[in-house]
Amino acid sequence: MGRAFAYVILGGGVAAGYAALEFVRRRAGASPGELCIISDEAAAPYERPALSKAYLLPQGAARLPAFHTCAGANDEVLTEQWYKDHGIELVLGTRVISADVRRKTLLTDTGETISYKTLIVATGARALELEESGVRGSDAANVCYLRSLEDAERMVGVMRSCHGGNALVIGGGYIGMECAAALVANQIKVTIVFPGKHCMGRLFTPKIAEFYEKYYAAKGVVFVKGTAVKSLEVSDGKVAAAVLRDGRRLPADMVVVGIGARANTGLFDGQLAMERSGIKVNGRMQTSDAAVYAVGDVAAFPVALLGGDVRRFEHVDCARRTARRAVEAILEPSGGAAGEGKGFGYLPYFYSRAFALSWQFYGDNAGEAVYFGDFSPPGAGGKPKFGACWVRGGRVAGAFIEGGSREENEAMASAVRRGAAIADVAAELEGHGLGFADQE
Ligand code: FAD
Repeated sequence: MGRAFAYVILGGGVAAGYAALEFVRRRAGASPGELCIISDEAAAPYERPALSKAYLLPQGAARLPAFHTCAGANDEVLTEQWYKDHGIELVLGTRVISADVRRKTLLTDTGETISYKTLIVATGARALELEESGVRGSDAANVCYLRSLEDAERMVGVMRSCHGGNALVIGGGYIGMECAAALVANQIKVTIVFPGKHCMGRLFTPKIAEFYEKYYAAKGVVFVKGTAVKSLEVSDGKVAAAVLRDGRRLPADMVVVGIGARANTGLFDGQLAMERSGIKVNGRMQTSDAAVYAVGDVAAFPVALLGGDVRRFEHVDCARRTARRAVEAILEPSGGAAGEGKGFGYLPYFYSRAFALSWQFYGDNAGEAVYFGDFSPPGAGGKPKFGACWVRGGRVAGAFIEGGSREENEAMASAVRRGAAIADVAAELEGHGLGFADQE
């Protein structure tokens, strides 16, 4: 049994949805047998970031179809019907279990062989499991992960059964921080445990982290830092408590695990060049095999802004842009390929929202951090506004801003993109009433 397509997108997440829209825009639709998306999820591509935010709200929660791609870019919302109307074959609930790059074929768990002329790999990443750090208990009924819609649905069910109870969040990254806020909103008491000195250890400086930890503490969240979960006590199929490496025992009615992710590259091990634990691509998102492209969380690409350094980002904006870039390069090989220079012209961009907070980060957090705005806790109903610029050689390499307006966010993005002199940025911020604070 088999089918053949000119283009196959493997994976049905954020990047797949944006690639499909770009394809349709450039081609005015697909003819039968031209484009197919294969996904092991049951739903058409959706905006994954919604799962840890609006999806978990106790009231007025977001549900599909509202957050199908490309809602997050304020663009068309692509429902299953949209794919049908545009001649795109959506093969949902189907897992690809092996890939043969030489033969240009994919084998699915339904036993079908799907062949392609051009493949876009958009398999994203998976959540790291507790067992990978030597802790057992992932299969307990009240342990939640958050990567897919199915996970989010499950977490909503577990939260409902824990009203007024205690949740243990394992991990102080953005999944842990956003889930903690959602749990508080659902009237659940939260303790977050992680081994680092402060939350969001890879991005935040201690000063930035201090603000968020104090803000969360004022909402009742307890931070247990500098240690990790050693084991989980499970009885009747449910976790009852966690034992920490420092000997403490924390009772828990539910557990949320957010300890990191791994890119889904396994199908291509030994077939495609890899870098930074992802699939290595050039500035056109083309892998070491000319017929295979990779986009989104799975792709490691040279970033022009970083002098051609190969990086991999697990950020939604990167998924959207690399997806569009790959389709452009595939459909307009000469036009799109020109001017790549040192790599793809991408400005790294990441954001998060929790409680009434909202921050954006642009560029690279390398260099010396200089701070602006007011880091003191906001009064009741007040909105904080502060940030930091990372400065190298007098030029801004990265910028973080909490509570920025659209214009302020754009100004920070532009400062990073053009490597503005810090003195010019200082003058601009002054104009917004956001003077630089003393350096740490
Ligand atoms: P994904 O969206 O993960 O899609 C991959 C798809 O491939 C999935 O459908 C998967 O099931 C499928 N797949 C994988 N292997 C196979 C296979 N063998 N066969 C068939 N199908 C397969 N980023 C931000 O910048 N800001 C945020 O606030 C933010 N919030 C997030 C919140 C959550 C809960 C999560 C999980 C992520 C968040 N992200 C955020 C990250 C962002 O969602 C990802 O960077 C983005 O989804 C990557 O898109 P992708 O298409 O590469 O991968």
